[in-house]
Amino acid sequence: MEGIKGKVAVVTGAAKGIGRAIALRLAKEGANIVINYRSDSESLKELVSEIESFGSKVVTARGDVSSFSDAKNIMEKAVDAFQTIDILVNNAGITRDGLMLRMKEEDFDRVIEVNLKGAFNCIRHVSPIMVKKRTGKIINISSVVGITGNAGQVNYSAAKAGIIGLTKSAARELASRKINVNAVAPGFINTSMTEILPQKTKENILNSIPLKRIGSPEDIANTVAFLASSNADYITGQVINIDGGMVM
Ligand code: NAP
Repeated sequence: MEGIKGKVAVVTGAAKGIGRAIALRLAKEGANIVINYRSDSESLKELVSEIESFGSKVVTARGDVSSFSDAKNIMEKAVDAFQTIDILVNNAGITRDGLMLRMKEEDFDRVIEVNLKGAFNCIRHVSPIMVKKRTGKIINISSVVGITGNAGQVNYSAAKAGIIGLTKSAARELASRKINVNAVAPGFINTSMTEILPQKTKENILNSIPLKRIGSPEDIANTVAFLASSNADYITGQVINIDGGMVM
């Protein structure tokens, strides 16, 4: 991919799963990485050494993206370390599934706060830096359920649909400053978020995937790296499904 080498990328919720794969992929392309994480783990330390083994620089920034001030601190830590931010990947996300008739208010609120407001908070704090430089790439992780809806996920699918509106509005606001804002909508990806699902649910989902396999975090990282590169300079305000053909 062209145009990633030497750039500074902030990836939220990067200690595991899709965020981890994105951080590694961007580092392999030569970016310096800011890993945002919420809880300490062994895998975070391993990720740091793996990124360093590619010759990239890396800093970690602890923080809860749903907090406006934490999001500010994450961006400030990135600028302290690398003087700028070129790429932001809003990946941090949670689920708190349940049928709407029984869903608790706090489960609705928390999922919106992390998945949707978290992305706003990070864009809000990164955009002044990118506007000043008149360049930047923002990639938001949505979900196919933000397009189709999903029983048991009114909170999550509303947040992920919100991410699509946020992406398109931010893309329109920032286009004149040569900042590209896009979203990817993963289908069913093999991470800790999906491994907790019952076996029967997993089989049903697999049967609905035309390419007949569950996606890997690297499948998502490949497209995110493309969108972060200069190969995607003429793409903005788009949502790319990465789902083995589940939604078409
Ligand atoms: P995951 O393995 O559960 O990883 C989520 C990451 O986000 C974790 O590192 C988590 O940190 C972090 N995080 C959660 N809340 C946070 C907060 N408030 N502030 C900062 N970080 C926070 O899930 P994943 O499957 O990789 O999901 C990554 C993204 O892809 C999410 O936005 C998810 O909605 C989206 N997605 C996933 C799938 C799928 O099938 N897996 C499909 C569509 C979309 P802790 O571990 O410390 O909580």
